[in-house]
Amino acid sequence: MSDFIVSARKYRPFAFTDVVGQNAITSTLSNAIRDNHLAQSFLFCGPRGVGKTTCARILAKTINCENITENINACNECDSCKSFNESHSFNIHELDAASNNSVDDIRNLVEQVRFAPQVGKYNIYIIDEVHMLSSSAFNAFLKTLEEPPAHAIFILATTEKHKIIPTILSRCQIFDFRSISIQNIIDHLKYVSKSEKIISEDDALHIIAQKSGGSLRDSLSMFDRLVNASDLTLTYKSVIENLNILDHDYYLKMTDAIIKHDVSEVLLILNEILNNGFDGHQFVNGLATHIRDLLVCKNPETVVLLEKGEELQKKYLSQSANCDLKFLIKSLKMTNECDVQYRVSKNQRLLVELCLLMMASIGQFSAEKKKNKNSIIAPNKAPIEKIAEKQNKEEVKKEEIITEVKENETLKTEVKVEVQEKPPTVFKQRIKSSTISISGILDDEKEDDEKQRSPIIEEDFSETEMMKVWNDFANIKKEDGRTNLFITLTALPPNLKDKNKIEIKISNDAQQKLLNENRVELMEYLRKKLKNDTIEVVTFITEEIKTDIPYTSTDKFNKMIEKNTSLKVLRDELGLDPDY
Ligand SMILES: [Zn+2]
Repeated sequence: MSDFIVSARKYRPFAFTDVVGQNAITSTLSNAIRDNHLAQSFLFCGPRGVGKTTCARILAKTINCENITENINACNECDSCKSFNESHSFNIHELDAASNNSVDDIRNLVEQVRFAPQVGKYNIYIIDEVHMLSSSAFNAFLKTLEEPPAHAIFILATTEKHKIIPTILSRCQIFDFRSISIQNIIDHLKYVSKSEKIISEDDALHIIAQKSGGSLRDSLSMFDRLVNASDLTLTYKSVIENLNILDHDYYLKMTDAIIKHDVSEVLLILNEILNNGFDGHQFVNGLATHIRDLLVCKNPETVVLLEKGEELQKKYLSQSANCDLKFLIKSLKMTNECDVQYRVSKNQRLLVELCLLMMASIGQFSAEKKKNKNSIIAPNKAPIEKIAEKQNKEEVKKEEIITEVKENETLKTEVKVEVQEKPPTVFKQRIKSSTISISGILDDEKEDDEKQRSPIIEEDFSETEMMKVWNDFANIKKEDGRTNLFITLTALPPNLKDKNKIEIKISNDAQQKLLNENRVELMEYLRKKLKNDTIEVVTFITEEIKTDIPYTSTDKFNKMIEKNTSLKVLRDELGLDPDY
């Protein structure tokens, strides 16, 4: 450990030109001094540690200097400047309103204001955190602020401008100090490093700048602390360790595992992170930011939004290249949902794990789906080959079935990214025509053969007629005691499209299931009553009412198992229990 102390104090600017990141303000103040147009009351607003008090002190020093330079800087040589630099000037009076906010405190100050300065031209009164003054203290102060003696200048500083009453605001010249940009902070830290002969890595300074949240003072004290802890050498690694930061390496590593669908690796990395004492919520939010950063890298125009050191930027760009845009957007959604649910979750760790596993299953599912397309089309019952064989006349059309389903799926899934995991169910039952009904094949192969011999009836019908038949069907079900079905059918008014396509917008899983169970009967009924054998019933989940989001951990996990059965094995092996 070295006993090195840089401190914000040592590198506190002594002239306006040294002030970091507030050029607009410092040049306005210099110009006012040059033109002798100085206001008597100022309000300096802005976040902590961005130079409000520093500017106030420089202002006080400069206007009291006996030989102001041409560039409107204090000479640093006259008596006034010397006493300022040695911090025993009588011209500057500071009051911290956070701790001295009573009427008496203000009265004491107001008392002093009457006296002209012994040295120099002006007395400067700096009231820090002025919003903390009690209202009676404010009132006691107002009179003085209204008619200050010529030798008094007030600088009120606050981090919370909105708490300042209008009567004060209207009497002050207001300066809004901005947060210092990361780059400005880095440059300043580099300057300090160089002056103090400290070896510091750019990425290390970047982390400090980022962590300081736009406050130069905070960044400097952090810098001090870290330099002391790491013996005058600042490496990225030492900074991460000392600040106990959940750093990019974790997120890069985690994202790599997710892209590779390596679920065990994903869980192990999370375990490491939690074991290192990091909070799951913090991690999820960090991961979301990481994904956002990857997203930003996707477009050369937005790469500038990636506030990272050069080395790190390369890593981000290369990882981003490996990520599919859809994956990033979906992952962002998932991390966001996890973030929202985190606080109310009873098993937060599992929630995070599920979120990660869901992310890891994004690409995997679609890859597997492609592979298993045939078995999805005809599960268990009849492999597609068998059917084609049986209907040898239509052998060629096997391809068409698959293509048709594919088309339907891609079409629907592209429109609704949110429900993409659930391909909409398409019910078709065309007889003898060019396409064969998949559902028909699945449902009853014999019937299909019979139907093929009868002619197709295809009469036109109106939407009103359709609605009537629809409601008739619902009523029959109601009389049968199928209240749920009745409610669902009547709650989901069907739309007629293209003469024979009946669309139903459904909004949740339960409705989907209910319609699945009854759709053959429904379709038969519609066809018979409307005298049209080509009628199709198509359902799709609407985006705006997707109540399909799994809420509980168990729901989520069950959903994931639906998509990827190996998760179940994993759960059992690792002894994870969603109900835990
Ligand atoms: Zn001077």
